[in-house]
Amino acid sequence: MLYKLYPWLFGAMLCGLTFCGRSDDTTVSGAAALTILYTANINGNIDNCMCGDPPLGGMDHIASYIQGKRQKGAVLYIEGGDALNSYDYPQLNDATRRIYGIIQPDVWAPGDQEFIQGTAYARSLFKEHASAIIAGNWHVKGDTGLPAFKIVQKNGWRIGLASYMEPTLPETRTNRDILFDPQKFDRINREMKSVPLSILIYHGAVDDVKQLINRFSDWDIILLSHYQQQTVFQNGHTLVVCPGSDGEYITEMVLTPHEGRPTPDIQVKQIPVTTDLPADEVIHDIIKTYQPG
Ligand SMILES: [Zn+2]
Repeated sequence: MLYKLYPWLFGAMLCGLTFCGRSDDTTVSGAAALTILYTANINGNIDNCMCGDPPLGGMDHIASYIQGKRQKGAVLYIEGGDALNSYDYPQLNDATRRIYGIIQPDVWAPGDQEFIQGTAYARSLFKEHASAIIAGNWHVKGDTGLPAFKIVQKNGWRIGLASYMEPTLPETRTNRDILFDPQKFDRINREMKSVPLSILIYHGAVDDVKQLINRFSDWDIILLSHYQQQTVFQNGHTLVVCPGSDGEYITEMVLTPHEGRPTPDIQVKQIPVTTDLPADEVIHDIIKTYQPG
């Protein structure tokens, strides 16, 4: 990363826009606040490298923040993919995997880097997180069993989540383990029309996601991964966010019911992951074990 931005708020921008044309489902009626936490592009950077300004915190600090939020209220934690390093570093990627085994994302949309240790490793990882994994427009070669989407019901909210991996990326185009299925994504878009809040985890470039929004404009929130820049913007009624790269930020979105309207307020914060956050001791020990030298 060449630069970092200060944390800021992107509050209440979707009221009256997000849910136009959707069903009159009573999702928001009776719903209480829900915190959505999002990480992506960890790239196997589990430790505090003491680099950057402010320095990156590492997975022990990310885990502690997530656990703290879970103890205080309803949380939906989404991992957007490229959690593993982009290189074949078995010990580092095993350590990353062990950490995710502790953090337990509620939803995980794998990226191309989850295949860096081979197909058998990826399959085993996906099996370990079977209740969280979604593969919207693709499947693993020889295995069509991964679900395309999930409908999550939490704290009175009903949320549809799907993923899309961009087939034109150099990393996905050359990966023979990832087979694309455009018709699967067409079906997802039809399914998502029946849910009051839809979230797409998009693995690709920001310019390509704008084209996708032109074709499928119903998505309420798009979470970017593979794209590495910290981002928050609105395109039409779609809120688009990215937590940057290497564990720089945790994206936090707080959904609150808006009285008198079937539309929530959504407040977005980019939480800087620094050593100022408390560290999870178990994960800290895993990181120490795998630190070189
Ligand atoms: Zn990727």
